[in-house]
Amino acid sequence: MSVSIISRAAWGAKPWDNDPQSSGPATVALSSRTEFFVHYDGASHITRTGYAIPRAIEAEHLAQGWAGIGYNFVVSQAGEIFEGRGWTRQGAHCPGHNVSGIGVQIAIGGDQEPTTAALAACRALYDEACAKTGRPLAKKGHRDGIATQCPGTKLYAWVQAGMPAKGYTPPTGDTAPSGGTSGVARYQVTINGLTYGYGAQGAHVTAVGEALVAKGFGSYYQVGPGPTWSDADTEAYAAYQRSLGYSGADADGVPGESSLRSLLGTLPGKTTTTAKTPFPGADKFGAGKSNAYVTKLGERLVARGYGRFYKVGPGPKWSDADRNATRAFQQAQGWSGSDADGYPGPQTWARLFA
Ligand SMILES: [Zn+2]
Repeated sequence: MSVSIISRAAWGAKPWDNDPQSSGPATVALSSRTEFFVHYDGASHITRTGYAIPRAIEAEHLAQGWAGIGYNFVVSQAGEIFEGRGWTRQGAHCPGHNVSGIGVQIAIGGDQEPTTAALAACRALYDEACAKTGRPLAKKGHRDGIATQCPGTKLYAWVQAGMPAKGYTPPTGDTAPSGGTSGVARYQVTINGLTYGYGAQGAHVTAVGEALVAKGFGSYYQVGPGPTWSDADTEAYAAYQRSLGYSGADADGVPGESSLRSLLGTLPGKTTTTAKTPFPGADKFGAGKSNAYVTKLGERLVARGYGRFYKVGPGPKWSDADRNATRAFQQAQGWSGSDADGYPGPQTWARLFA
């Protein structure tokens, strides 16, 4: 039986080294693999689920200057297997053992109990690793390679017991990371013509983040919310879904229609945003002005592709970003001089909301 692995493309991994030009970590021949290391996440319990798990590890490891997730694979409590370095690349999980060892993190921490599904998925990876290399790999915990608590008391006991796992078949995952759209569909969703989920962009993304903050899920945001859907949006949305009573794949941080409707009170998109928005008057815009129309202008400019002018926001307080984005929009209409002064008039407004 071969295991189902959710590819880097499917869970939305950033390029290696967060650099599209990077060729990534060195490759390692299967013949060099002799050991199989089990890890945990650290001292704290893990509550995130789904794609948020590998993305959080990726963010941490990229911040350490690594090429991406250091483990070869990451296993969730639901039994999902996420690709990190995969079968063929050198890991960054245990000094001195990154070529010889395949490193797998089971995403738990502290005294958290690993699920049957997680153990079975990890065991299936071990069996697959032995099948691929043609030899029985040594079963090890991180602490067998270096002085560390990892993989914690429970997983270490499990490794020492020979990694028993019975009566479980890992769930089917995405095994075809061909760069097509099938992977994208797994962490993004389009509702009413608007895309939500990791990487999605637009004023509607800001609106979701702001609604999540208003509902009490602001602790997930270090910055923002903003117009590009981030891991913080995913985590905040997943927490919101759990608050509605959803669990498992229904609380993966990717909106569904009903959770979105209950968050926003309405479903944004084609059916609602085409309503005419009358020009509120030139006196609403300019230095020192602060009102909802300034926010509306900014969000519309972002939605129309002028988000690059905003380091933060858009927000209600008129800023240089509002002016520069408005000017760029006006110039894009072919206007110049006083017609492209960075302040919206009725013509600008009509074009912007057309
Ligand atoms: Zn470890």
